Amino acid sequence: MATALNARPQTLPSGLILLDGKLVEPIRPDRMITSIDPATGKPIMQFHACGPEDADRAVQAAQRCFESDAWQNMRPIDRGRLLEKLALLVERDREELAALESLDSGKLLFVTNAVDLQFTIDGLRYFAGWASKIAGEYVSHSPLMPEPAIYRAYTQRRPVGVVAGITPWNFPIGQAIQKIAPAIAFGCTVVLKPSEETSLTTLRLGELIVEAGFPAGAVNIVTGYGAEVGAALVDHPGVRKIAFTGSTATGQRIMESAARSMKRVTLELGGKSPSIVLPDADLDRAIPGVAGAIFANSGQICTAGSRLLVHSSIYDRVMEGVCRIASDIRIGSPFDDATQMGPLISARQRDRVAGLVAKGLDEGATALAGARVPDGSGWYYTPTVLGGVERDMTVMREEIFGPVVCAIRYDDVADAIRIANDTPFGLAASIWTRDLDRAHLLADRIDAGTVWLNTHNVLDLAMPFGGNKLSGVGREFGSEAMQSFTEPKAVCMRFDLPSAGF
Ligand code: NAD
Repeated sequence: MATALNARPQTLPSGLILLDGKLVEPIRPDRMITSIDPATGKPIMQFHACGPEDADRAVQAAQRCFESDAWQNMRPIDRGRLLEKLALLVERDREELAALESLDSGKLLFVTNAVDLQFTIDGLRYFAGWASKIAGEYVSHSPLMPEPAIYRAYTQRRPVGVVAGITPWNFPIGQAIQKIAPAIAFGCTVVLKPSEETSLTTLRLGELIVEAGFPAGAVNIVTGYGAEVGAALVDHPGVRKIAFTGSTATGQRIMESAARSMKRVTLELGGKSPSIVLPDADLDRAIPGVAGAIFANSGQICTAGSRLLVHSSIYDRVMEGVCRIASDIRIGSPFDDATQMGPLISARQRDRVAGLVAKGLDEGATALAGARVPDGSGWYYTPTVLGGVERDMTVMREEIFGPVVCAIRYDDVADAIRIANDTPFGLAASIWTRDLDRAHLLADRIDAGTVWLNTHNVLDLAMPFGGNKLSGVGREFGSEAMQSFTEPKAVCMRFDLPSAGF
């Protein structure tokens, strides 16, 4: 079949960091990181590895902006307009940003355009609307107050202060907006550090933020390694909240460090989410649904359905269907219309996935599909289905973050609940059934931040998103974002009325 090769980005970002409203070089401009095209293993460009001194300058700029009268007195609706302006610029450059994202991350071009860029634009507009809807509460008289009639009390939601946003490589531009947009909407200022694997669209975003006319210091972007500039942001006394998305191991380190200064944290971490197929499921929907749950974005989605729980009565049919889909998936260039799955982010990640699969096979699992590194350049791995797994195997317990699903059969629903919850993670789950009563009752019993019914990996900005157990702390999106980017302040006032009243 003839296939079209879609447009690659026309230009690359300058590579300059965004500090105090200007695109500049870091203090030590000679320390560079090379971004690699994961589809070919070839270098794309170099950008700066900032150090702790750049983190310090960025936090100071964010603090100055936050404390300025101009920022404190800016009308909330005008903060929203900044986000709307940025949304228009992202929309203007949508094709170019999508192409840059695909080049840098290996994500399929039609996905970066239809999903990542749409999420970015929608996210900016969604949070622009929130800026003018921040509200506290009127608190009614407490019976414990000595003279309740002469007291009035209310709460405000005050911005938490300078936010450090730290993002991973699987949704680079979307994640950047997930941190920047609520921070600005709720009156905070922000320093963002993208993943060193995928910094290019965030750097381009910095250029658009300058063009949109954000006040100096409201948004700062520093690039570099997590252990250097990331850790410096986490430890910085001027940072009041850390909004982190990434691995559980890094999240744990961040929480330990944040505990010393009681920084607020939201941690969006790893997962090992189950797709649970009940015996009455519509298999024409469920089979492609559970396959998509794990193979989308080469399995590099925190909520990927990496454990497949199937009732014994339909196990063979479901496995046959999922394995056929896995074997038929066309792997290739993210810029090729015919490609259904792109590469993994890096050679390291590809080797990690291959290593975990090898360990699974060693521990007794069976490869029903895939389980190999294809020939050729780039960091590809075949869509893989593992059967014969046991609940205590490494592949069933650790997040693999690749296109690898572990299938396990169950005999009754109570069994399915036990297996689904038998994991240190609690990010998401999907339930596939025609019986809606059962679906809702089962959803109650799943220990996870999100449960999908007859679908998977659907993110909605209006719904709280986050995980239980090792999958994180706090929630992003929806009204929960207001809770996590603001602090409540109680204000209590006493009226000094004459004793006779009015
Ligand atoms: P990672 O933890 O290695 O890196 C994430 C970010 O943290 C990067 O910017 C990195 O530079 C930075 N970092 C690393 N060490 C740091 C330190 N000591 N201090 C401060 N910052 C540090 O994660 P990753 O490999 O980039 O991303 C994949 C992980 O992200 C997976 O576990 C995935 O499940 C998770 N993830 C979770 C969600 C969610 O919403 N729950 C969404 C996407 C990805």
